[in-house]
Amino acid sequence: MTQQTVLVINSGSSSIKYQLVDPAAGTSLASGLVERIGEETGHIEHKFGDVTREIDGPVPDHGDGLRKVLALFDEVGPNLHEAGIVAVGHRVVQGGKFFSGPAIIDEAVEQKIRDLCPLGPLHNPAHLKGIEVARELMSDVPHVAVFDTAFFQSLPDEAATYALNKEVAEKYQIRRYGAHGTSHQFVSGEVARFLDRDDLKQIVLHLGNGASASAVVNGHAVDTSMGLTPLEGLVMGGRTGDIDPAAVFHLVREAKMEISEIDDLFNKQSGLKGLTGDNDMRVVRSRIEAGDADCRLAMDVYVHRLLKYVGAYTAVMGGLDTITFTAGAGENDSDLRRELCARLEYTGLKLDQEKNNVRSKEARVISTPDSTITVLVVPTNEELAIAKQAMTLI
Ligand code: ADP
Repeated sequence: MTQQTVLVINSGSSSIKYQLVDPAAGTSLASGLVERIGEETGHIEHKFGDVTREIDGPVPDHGDGLRKVLALFDEVGPNLHEAGIVAVGHRVVQGGKFFSGPAIIDEAVEQKIRDLCPLGPLHNPAHLKGIEVARELMSDVPHVAVFDTAFFQSLPDEAATYALNKEVAEKYQIRRYGAHGTSHQFVSGEVARFLDRDDLKQIVLHLGNGASASAVVNGHAVDTSMGLTPLEGLVMGGRTGDIDPAAVFHLVREAKMEISEIDDLFNKQSGLKGLTGDNDMRVVRSRIEAGDADCRLAMDVYVHRLLKYVGAYTAVMGGLDTITFTAGAGENDSDLRRELCARLEYTGLKLDQEKNNVRSKEARVISTPDSTITVLVVPTNEELAIAKQAMTLI
């Protein structure tokens, strides 16, 4: 069979990340990044095989950025048509109640993504910029939107509904949408495949800069920690995660802060960054080793929050078969995994310390054979997941 590939695009407000993926083989052929679009010092990096080509200079807008990327595919390779491109897959954070799976992008779908901007104000407008220029510049292949929220559209009402006034919630579409769904779906699917079992009660902990937990029963999500927006839930690099919403009223009344300032405070200046000054887990970890008390407390808060979600989701599912760690910190920080699992020993969970310390890019079990709960590390691969989902519509 000839190779079929998908160009996966993740368009941000001032960046475009891309990867050319062969979903059947599970491989990436080329990847790159356009940064600082609209600023004076733009930067483009394109990787193909052993070659990395970098371009510095202004990139006025997303259209210019993508044109330059397409020129790099021609110049450095691989030639997109020879590489068998059959679709472009676009990551879209907010799909609201409209999308419970991927969708071929036509005018109506593009309009729905636009209509959802108030629910995804940090992401959807930026995705639209990428979608608009990509559809124009690559009009000979279908474009597919893959939504971060789609996997969580099947949440039971009791998990998706906030105990907020019903009329207000309906009018303003306030409910739990979740996020990182593409990763939770991919990773929970990999766990089922790896253990060769579909009947699993799983908790997936996606611990990157953004962090979220999900509860998945037999392949279906039944709860997740992110809510109306990605702010809710776990402690993150720069986000508070769960906090009493009355903190907002208090800051408005006492500190006379504007809503936009509180938005920035909760979404960017809090979490690990707010507690320690650093949002990078590696830095926090090395400061703990040097005896830094702020970092130790931050880590304790981080693990305490994780522990509460694991307990809650175990109760929600009526049991627990697997806990899976994924994303930057989940895949790489063995201390974090050890600290959480130590707090769960009362359940009969036993971590294999040696396996936990192994560094690998492969999916692996890190608990002992007699552990009551199987603990795994499974690398997430959102680009591959998006490419695979796009292929289901081609
Ligand atoms: P995102 O995609 O949300 O930006 P990633 O999944 O790339 O984030 O994860 C970034 C986080 O992973 C950072 O906090 C980073 O410090 C952490 N991380 C990456 N490598 C390691 C490591 N070796 N040890 C501990 N944390 C790590």
